[in-house]
Amino acid sequence: MTTASPEPSRRANLLDFDLEGLAAFCETLGEKRFRATQLFRWIHQRGASGFDQMTDLAKSLRGKLQGAACIQGLSLLTQQESSDGTIKWLFDVGGGNAVESVFIPEDDRGTLCVSSQAGCAVGCRFCSTGHQGFARNLSTAEIVAQLWFAEHFLRKRFNTSDRVISNVVMMGMGEPLQNYSALVPALRTMLDDHGYGLSRRRVTVSTSGVVPMMDRLAQDCPVALAVSLHAPNDVLRDNLVPLNRKYPLAELLDACNRYLEFAPRDFITFEYCMLDGVNDQPEHADQLITLVRHHGARGVSCKLNLIPFNPFPQSGLTRSPHNRVLAFAKRLSDAGIVTTVRKTRGDDIDAACGQLAGDVRDRTRVGERIAQQRTIMLKPVPGAPATKEGNP
Ligand code: SF4
Repeated sequence: MTTASPEPSRRANLLDFDLEGLAAFCETLGEKRFRATQLFRWIHQRGASGFDQMTDLAKSLRGKLQGAACIQGLSLLTQQESSDGTIKWLFDVGGGNAVESVFIPEDDRGTLCVSSQAGCAVGCRFCSTGHQGFARNLSTAEIVAQLWFAEHFLRKRFNTSDRVISNVVMMGMGEPLQNYSALVPALRTMLDDHGYGLSRRRVTVSTSGVVPMMDRLAQDCPVALAVSLHAPNDVLRDNLVPLNRKYPLAELLDACNRYLEFAPRDFITFEYCMLDGVNDQPEHADQLITLVRHHGARGVSCKLNLIPFNPFPQSGLTRSPHNRVLAFAKRLSDAGIVTTVRKTRGDDIDAACGQLAGDVRDRTRVGERIAQQRTIMLKPVPGAPATKEGNP
């Protein structure tokens, strides 16, 4: 008599486990922990989506895995490619929600921007994701699946067995530190030599300033840190980044200095979105200089990344003129602060930072858009993988 396999949803999705978690899972199947390493490599390094492919695993183990586990990616809704090589994927995460991942190729690196939540509860004024409201946290599997899909899709696209994605930035939809328990195993999978083997310096978590979780991340999995600053004083930051009312600038900068003791880089990246007439005046630059140079006893070791704002109608905000951004950058640089101005990428596909939700007005509209995209997906997306589950 054969026993029917459990429904996929009742099987463990192996994308949910870091290596340690997978070893524990293997033990529940009566298997030695070292089997987990083989399995982990098959999934993450070779992009396997089925156990039949894993020919060096004993048949008996493959049989057990068929019954108890699955490797379940996200359902791909759309793929858009920019003329500058940027690729944006929209994934269905159920319940009328979608999340986006963006691949940004550069001469010396390939960066994947990954989402951690469907929507976001922080509600930053200049962020189109924030204007959607919060739907839910992504699971570890849903976070890792974005990298798993993108890496193996791109290897096929470029006909290479070498790694294509060299950097991951947790700067997509959501506040990663408000989804901490799912984030940390995902980061560990990215860093693991048997997984994606990324260095801690090349994996960046971006936070709007969830102070207690910054301290925990420093202990649990210290990767590079970017902090969404966007304002040089509490009055303005309270307005632009509402989380500032809970964790004001002085507390945030203290947390940055504590983090630096464990960080893989000796600086924090401060992100600063340039908003016309709001935070882009010479006095704001001067306040910023005072803030980062003189906070506490020794200031904060940092780099400033100025981001041109990507306007969307509901924000009521506009982009600072380019010459004002350059003047702001010069003022900071002249004060000895390393300052860069982010190049806008993928503008023609709404993939640039802060536009990840596209022109979505509210959650209902997301549902409509997904329904529409589903119809479009009946026609294959050129160059996209054949499977609906987003398997690479
Ligand atoms: S900028 Fe980040 S933290 Fe703020 S609303 Fe957008 S996704 Fe959330």
